[in-house]
Amino acid sequence: MIVIVFFEDSIHWVQHKKVEQANRKECTIANLDVSIKPVIEVIDLNPSPYQETDISMAPRVVGVGRGFVQEKDLRFASELAIELSAALGCTRSIAEELHWLPRQSYIGISDKIIKPDLYVAVGISGQIQHIIGVRDAKLIVAIDTYENAPIFHSADYGIIGDLYEILPALTAALRNNNIPVASMSPLR
Ligand SMILES: Cc1cc2nc3c(=O)[nH]c(=O)nc-3n(C[C@H](O)[C@H](O)[C@H](O)COP(=O)(O)OP(=O)(O)OC[C@H]3O[C@@H](n4cnc5c(N)ncnc54)[C@H](O)[C@@H]3O)c2cc1C
Repeated sequence: MIVIVFFEDSIHWVQHKKVEQANRKECTIANLDVSIKPVIEVIDLNPSPYQETDISMAPRVVGVGRGFVQEKDLRFASELAIELSAALGCTRSIAEELHWLPRQSYIGISDKIIKPDLYVAVGISGQIQHIIGVRDAKLIVAIDTYENAPIFHSADYGIIGDLYEILPALTAALRNNNIPVASMSPLR
């Protein structure tokens, strides 16, 4: 609690517990008509569209890379992350160059090393600086249009295709609990 203390020559704001130590003098209590000009004006409140979980602790992470054309398209990854109860991570390019996600979201040798049970890499080429941050994930699933993308060397399961088709289909299938059981062999 903050208490105003009136000294003879000045007025001080002090913490409540410090009042006893202050050099107090008798005074008259009066009602003050004070108008305080706010220093910060709140214009609008918008919740972050992305989960702000600590990705180092998250058991599942969906990682996004430059395969996304524009920032608002990250919602496709965010929707998948919600269905998987996963946190959203990214490559350095997404956080440091494009500033689409907060800096603490990027994974790799320069920042966070993660070890989730599941890592889904979407539109991420799989450069070594990124892979070092995710290679200890128990299961890596990669989605990329380029069949020779290095990410597939690190992935257990690879989906070669356009994220703009695959993510909505995958999210809808998870939402409807309708994942087709296919016979797939792990890549690694
Ligand atoms: C000293 C140094 C340290 C670095 N540290 C890190 C680090 O810690 N972490 C990190 O992440 N990076 C780091 N980098 C950067 C790293 O080298 C790569 O540049 C970066 O990881 C590449 O990001 P990206 O995969 O998002 O982009 P890109 O390499 O451009 O890959 C984009 C991928 O998206 C695919 N794609 C395109 N369109 C689609 C689509 N419609 N559907 C599906 N796929 C699509 C492409 O085929 C491509 O494979 C570092 C670099 C340096 C030099």
